[in-house]
Amino acid sequence: MEVYNKYAAYLKERYGDKVYKIPVNLPVTCPNRDGTCGKGGCSFCGEEGTGYEMRDAYEDIISQIETNKSYIGKKYKAKYFIAYLQNYSNTYMPIDDFYAMLEKVGNTDVVGIAVSTRPDCIHSRYLDILQKWAEKYKKDVCIELGLQTVNYHSLKKVNRGHTLAEYLDAVLQVKKYSFEICTHLILNLPWDTMEDVIENAKCMTVLESTYVKLHALYIVKETELAKAYLNGQIQLVSLDEYKQRVITFLRYLSKDIVVQRLIGRAPEAHTLFSNWDTSWWKIHDDIVEEMTEKNYTQGDLCDYTAGKAVRKYI
Ligand code: SF4
Repeated sequence: MEVYNKYAAYLKERYGDKVYKIPVNLPVTCPNRDGTCGKGGCSFCGEEGTGYEMRDAYEDIISQIETNKSYIGKKYKAKYFIAYLQNYSNTYMPIDDFYAMLEKVGNTDVVGIAVSTRPDCIHSRYLDILQKWAEKYKKDVCIELGLQTVNYHSLKKVNRGHTLAEYLDAVLQVKKYSFEICTHLILNLPWDTMEDVIENAKCMTVLESTYVKLHALYIVKETELAKAYLNGQIQLVSLDEYKQRVITFLRYLSKDIVVQRLIGRAPEAHTLFSNWDTSWWKIHDDIVEEMTEKNYTQGDLCDYTAGKAVRKYI
C-alpha cells in the first residue's frame, strides 16, 4: 500500500481499468433548505448546493451521462464510469421519481451509482428499491453520507439540521443491504480540534465506512459562514494545521478504508476562502511527502478496537 489507501488504485484493481465518477445533476433540493428540518441550509452551503462542474438539473439524465462520459472519458482516459448524484439530497424526492431516475441510469453502461444524501434522508423504502435495481441491472451502489464531523456541537453550529445519531441510524440501515458507504468529513470546522479529528477517524473505523472523502472548509460567498468570517467571528486553521489534521486522521483510520480525497476542489469564483489559495494537488502531495519522510502510513495508530484494554489477559 502507498501511504494511504487510494480510491483510484482501488477502483482500477476492482474493475480492471480506470474508473471515473461522472456528476449527474437532478432537480432536487434539501430538507435543510425547504423547512422540513431547517431553513437556509448548512452555514457553509451556497445557493447551488455542494456540487460544482454540474450540468443543468433539467437536462435528461441519459444525456448528462453520455455528454460527461465522452468529455471526462477523453480527458482522464477513463474506461468505466460511476453515475454520481452529487448535489443536494438525492433520496429526497417522491419515491416514484426516485424509481424512474434509477431506471434511466440502469439503462446506461455505468458500472454503478453513487447517491449522495443526508443521513436523515435514508429510508428502507428507498433502499429496497435500490437493492432491486442493483440486482436487476447488476450495478454497484454506494450511499454517500454527508456527516462533516462527529462533534455534534459543531453540527449544531453549522446548522446541519441533524446530529450524530441520524448518521449512526443511516449507517446501520444501509449496512443491511449490499451497498457501500462513503462518509464526507470536513477536518477544519472552526470549532473542531485535533481531538475531534481523531474521533472522526475512530468512528469511521468502528462503523466500517467503505470510503471516506475529506474536504477542507471553504467559505462560499453570501452564506451565513461568509458573514461570520467577514465579521471575524470564526477563525480558520492554517494550511499547515490542516495538513497535520489529515495526516493524524489517516494514521488513526483503519487501513482497509478507501480514501476518496484528502481535500476537495472549490472554484475560487464562488468563494471568499478556498484551500488557502493553494492547489489541491500541492496540498495532497505535501501530505504524502511528509508521511513518506516520517514513515507514517494509514492505520499505523489504529489500535483501539477489539477490546484493547483486555488484550493483556489473552
Ligand atoms: S445538507 Fe448538503 S445540500 Fe443541504 S444545506 Fe447542507 S450542504 Fe447544502
